[in-house]
Amino acid sequence: MARNKTDVVILGAGAVGLSCAYFLHRAGLSVQLLDSGKAGQGASLGNCGLITPGHAPPVCSPGAMKKALKWLFKDTAPLHVRPRLDPALAGWMLQFARNCDAKETSRIMAAKAALLTSSRDLTQKLIEKEKLDCEFSDTGLMSVCLTDQGLQDAEEVVALLQSVGIDASLVDGDQAREAEPALSSDVIGGAWFPQDATLRPDRFTSELNWALHNKGVALQEDCQIKAFNFGPSGRLESVFTDRGTYESEIFIAAAGVWTPRALEKLKMKIPIQAGMGYSLTTKRPEPCPAFPLLMQETHVVATPWASGYRLGGTMEFAGIDASPNPKRFLALIEGARDYLIEPLGKGQPEKWHGYRPMTPDDLPLIGTPAHIENLCFAAGHNMLGMSMAVGTGRLVAEMMTGRQTHIDPAPYSPGRFKGINPG
Ligand SMILES: Cc1cc2nc3c(=O)[nH]c(=O)nc-3n(C[C@H](O)[C@H](O)[C@H](O)COP(=O)(O)OP(=O)(O)OC[C@H]3O[C@@H](n4cnc5c(N)ncnc54)[C@H](O)[C@@H]3O)c2cc1C
Repeated sequence: MARNKTDVVILGAGAVGLSCAYFLHRAGLSVQLLDSGKAGQGASLGNCGLITPGHAPPVCSPGAMKKALKWLFKDTAPLHVRPRLDPALAGWMLQFARNCDAKETSRIMAAKAALLTSSRDLTQKLIEKEKLDCEFSDTGLMSVCLTDQGLQDAEEVVALLQSVGIDASLVDGDQAREAEPALSSDVIGGAWFPQDATLRPDRFTSELNWALHNKGVALQEDCQIKAFNFGPSGRLESVFTDRGTYESEIFIAAAGVWTPRALEKLKMKIPIQAGMGYSLTTKRPEPCPAFPLLMQETHVVATPWASGYRLGGTMEFAGIDASPNPKRFLALIEGARDYLIEPLGKGQPEKWHGYRPMTPDDLPLIGTPAHIENLCFAAGHNMLGMSMAVGTGRLVAEMMTGRQTHIDPAPYSPGRFKGINPG
């Protein structure tokens, strides 16, 4: 079997792994990406493509448990748990519940805002610099409401965002329709997030992958990890796979929801659960929204691109190998119907489901565990991996090359979870 040696080996070539490869290569290091499947075909494929500082408010918040309990066992609700005995999921939920506390919420929100804001600008710069043809559009995003409760929730979001310096404002129903004529007369108002942007996620990863290829970054697809080899000092020295052995100075774990499995042999308890989400992609409806919309009550997102249109969202904790529930595809259309004159484009929609890498505190894992100094996590980006990928790539490169970091990495440290560091 071949032996390969590079400065960096990255496990996982989704939006996050590719972004890490970009900045590590730019720092002058030779990079090898390994993917057990194909680059960009995981959660980074069929998602809604929002690059959204407007989503900085944490999912775990003081009101979240009440809302979650109302939805939990209804299989078409925005959040659903498929009933099963799973101690890891039960432990994850307990940790999530503990984070639904006002003090934790403001800490988490500040950390999310820092990464989302930096990543928003870095994403645009990377796309422009590398001329990635991925339909990037910085039109902003509107959340739209049908009910007074929805408006109240939108008001809270606006106040939270303003408290961390992210632009957001409220709109009434007429202002919403004037800006977005595709909205129905049932919409009573909403909120406007001018810093938000969109891109076509499959185009972003394929274009970035191509740019990396042209720069000499190596990618091995369909590559299964078999074992890790350590040196006498406890440093990770190589990863043994069915495609050969890859030696390196630095290893990055960027396998999204599969990160716990990819690192299984290292015996860490990595609290990432699969949050299954769904999307339907069609031609542009008539009328088509001019910018992305978040339906406040149903949590469905409508994303328009020049080349098409997508409805996406919903969160289902069903396990990483679960198959999709057909009812939840219909729930996407139902969840958009009352807000839009035309909720879906004509023709047979392309169905997709993917697994979000969910952590119990809504923050990613970025950084090294205490006992393996040359293994860096870049995983667990929850519902916002597209929005955070480029910022994560830069942060990882800064940390692993000993440079000044552009934001404080402490809140994302994997060591905040006890099971990551043994003993
Ligand atoms: C319906 C839906 C809508 C979403 N909308 C948005 C949105 O609008 N904006 C946003 O910011 N985020 C959104 N997300 C979340 C976002 O898609 C994810 O957070 C993000 O794609 C995670 O990227 P990643 O690179 O970490 O993981 P992935 O893209 O899943 O990549 C992981 C890679 O690791 C590989 N892999 C797996 N096992 C191994 C192994 N053992 N060894 C090596 N490689 C391995 C996989 O093949 C895959 O290529 C959405 C998610 C869903 C499901």
